[in-house]
Amino acid sequence: MWSYRRWRRQRILARNPVSPQQWEGVRQRLPILDGLDETEDRRLRERSVLFLHDKRITALPGVELTPDDRLTLATLAQLPLLHLPDLDWYRGFHELVLYPDDFVSPQRHRDAAGVEHEYDDERSGEAWQYGPVILAWPGVKSSGGWDGYNLVIHELAHKLDMLNGSPNGLPPLHRDMRQSDWALAMQTAYDALNAQLDRDPDAETPIDPYAAEDPAEFFAVASEYFFTAPDLLDQAFPAVYRQLQAFYRQDPLGRLKRLQDIHPDYRHATNG
Ligand code: ZN
Repeated sequence: MWSYRRWRRQRILARNPVSPQQWEGVRQRLPILDGLDETEDRRLRERSVLFLHDKRITALPGVELTPDDRLTLATLAQLPLLHLPDLDWYRGFHELVLYPDDFVSPQRHRDAAGVEHEYDDERSGEAWQYGPVILAWPGVKSSGGWDGYNLVIHELAHKLDMLNGSPNGLPPLHRDMRQSDWALAMQTAYDALNAQLDRDPDAETPIDPYAAEDPAEFFAVASEYFFTAPDLLDQAFPAVYRQLQAFYRQDPLGRLKRLQDIHPDYRHATNG
């Protein structure tokens, strides 16, 4: 049957070809894509092209973007969606704004006593409900390795979280998942992390202590680890890993282990 959607999609892909060399360059910059199979590789490349067609990328003065940079950013953005049903998971925004460096963001917070606090906070990314995703370009460039850091995946996890209301660490779950399982896994890990930091604010936490900030940050940081340090996340909070595996419908830990089976020093090679 003729489908307008498929026709439009094919037309965009035909008009925006990606050469094998260009795609190879993107793959080189993003070790966390290692081990994807051919189908996944092609799907990721095509969806990245469609993403660049659908979203506006605004570079503020001081950020020079090459076509390869744009494709790399789009590819990072599409990795979390790779095995999700082809719905518009990023419908909540139209624009990504790239800052040349970390930026100061005015924050407002009402404490338990009802007092409003306003302060400035230095940050490298921000996702506004109904608004653009803001990313500091150096943070984007540092994203892509197996090292527990990924600014793009972090901010876009907030966008997934916002699909069903203000960010609270609970994105819209699939039908085969149970909200009670999700809540139990996340809450237990979040409480354990906070308890560790309450005992010793300088504790060597198993994942970035920023995850203890609030449940929304926990989900965003856990998503970063899921895709870039799945072994660390699974070791510290296996139930969280399993919930994210059910949500993203991917198994980066299995992929990393297969790479390590083939090349025993795999991760060292990419960390250096
Ligand atoms: Zn965040």
